[in-house]
Amino acid sequence: MKVDYLIIGQGLAGSTLAIELLRRGRSVLVVDRQDGTGSTRIAAGLITPLTGRGMNPAWRQQYYLPKAVAFYHGLEKESGRKFYHHMPVVRVFASEKEREKWRGKTDEQHQWAHELDELDGPFQYQYGGIEMPDGAWLDTLAFLHVVQDKLMDTGSWREAAFAEEDVSFVDGQVEWQDVVADKIILCQGAYGLNGVDGYKGWFSYMHHRSAKGEILNVWIDGLDDARRYHCQGWLAPRGGGMWKAGSNYDWKHMDAIPTDAGKSDVLAKLNTWLELGPDKDVPIEVIDHEAGIRPIIRNSRPVVGFHPEIPQVGFFNGLGSKGSLMAPAVAEHFAAYLCGESELDEELGLPQ
Ligand SMILES: Cc1cc2nc3c(=O)[nH]c(=O)nc-3n(C[C@H](O)[C@H](O)[C@H](O)COP(=O)(O)OP(=O)(O)OC[C@H]3O[C@@H](n4cnc5c(N)ncnc54)[C@H](O)[C@@H]3O)c2cc1C
Repeated sequence: MKVDYLIIGQGLAGSTLAIELLRRGRSVLVVDRQDGTGSTRIAAGLITPLTGRGMNPAWRQQYYLPKAVAFYHGLEKESGRKFYHHMPVVRVFASEKEREKWRGKTDEQHQWAHELDELDGPFQYQYGGIEMPDGAWLDTLAFLHVVQDKLMDTGSWREAAFAEEDVSFVDGQVEWQDVVADKIILCQGAYGLNGVDGYKGWFSYMHHRSAKGEILNVWIDGLDDARRYHCQGWLAPRGGGMWKAGSNYDWKHMDAIPTDAGKSDVLAKLNTWLELGPDKDVPIEVIDHEAGIRPIIRNSRPVVGFHPEIPQVGFFNGLGSKGSLMAPAVAEHFAAYLCGESELDEELGLPQ
């Protein structure tokens, strides 16, 4: 089998890159081992216009958000399946200091949020909060299935566990199994980074600060599910009383195993701003629990490019905790570069 690009990993990075290359008339084979450890599979897919203590927009959000919306809507239209959901987000302030911080930056960030006087429900809302009308969530599993189906239609998808030692470079081409490709692009998420799951590979030299996170699937009775709620942790509705609740950051354990400590951590965060529990205002039941690793490199910015010593080996990784927002625009740029339409954006290039 001969293809232009052999792509390893079908998470957000591999999926968006494959679509962008197909749109440019290139042939691809996407390989994924489907072992359930991929970060995209468990991610809540949230797009939140202002995040963190500083309540700031993501890097290049002004430019990346419209690109992401257009990409997902385009694929929804093409496939006839819905997976990108617009949903306003409420951030409940945890303290008077947080409210004052917001008031100091209202002018600067008014495009993304406005103050919300009241919030119905069992929230500790004494300090108020803000509403972000441009929030959204990507149903990541549904998205992965749409992309997989599209790739399978043209024989461009394969389930397999890839290992670098099975690759040969012959006459400037890449050979793996029965496949001959011009280039191989590694889109393995955290599993392509040094030390995760014992991995040592072509890009092991790259420093990273990947972080494990745990997410609960919970049932909550009687909470208005027209919005998503953030304060310490977050609650994102999934319909029928089901919610995703998250998350925590763990920089020590590089695996996708859910733990009791992670579960307690998430529930403790929610309890700081919600009256949750069997005897409280809002009954909650934990239905199941998942974990994954956010691939974080260099200031949480994505990284694309080629190996400094093996020119046939490419890399798209580092989507951090904002993969849903960033992947489409970065994939579009990388595909354009691969197809000779543009220079590589230096700010996205591999760290030297
Ligand atoms: C708890 C948690 C919550 C998150 N919440 C959000 C959120 O709300 N919003 C948001 O935008 N982002 C969120 N993220 C981050 C988001 O998940 C990532 O940015 C994104 O999914 C990374 O995509 P990726 O394609 O780089 O990696 P992955 O999704 O990990 O994909 C890599 C793929 O490569 C495959 N693979 C790896 N090695 C091999 C091999 N040797 N052979 C074959 N296949 C292989 C894996 O199986 C996997 O399918 C969250 C992450 C976590 C862990």
